[in-house]
Amino acid sequence: MARLKVRVAFPERCKGCGLCVHFCPKKVLSVGNQRNLQGYKVVEIVSPDKCTGCGVCYLMCPDVVLEVV
Ligand code: SF4
Ligand code: SF4
Repeated sequence: MARLKVRVAFPERCKGCGLCVHFCPKKVLSVGNQRNLQGYKVVEIVSPDKCTGCGVCYLMCPDVVLEVV
């Protein structure tokens, strides 16, 4: 069975609030230095191998930026 993984599906919606970063139990995510067209720093996947696909980040993001696929 293929493993579930997080994906930054809609970076243009990200506000860089860091909620997903804070709540990820595996510290997979980080707010990077790259900005989107709105001028917000965008979340990045820094440790993809640690992602368990639990979906907590997806549930926490108020702007539905992340997907678990
Ligand atoms: S799916 Fe779970 S482990 Fe993966 S980035 Fe989101 S919160 Fe972290
Ligand atoms: S992905 Fe969502 S929760 Fe994470 S920093 Fe961006 S807006 Fe905030």
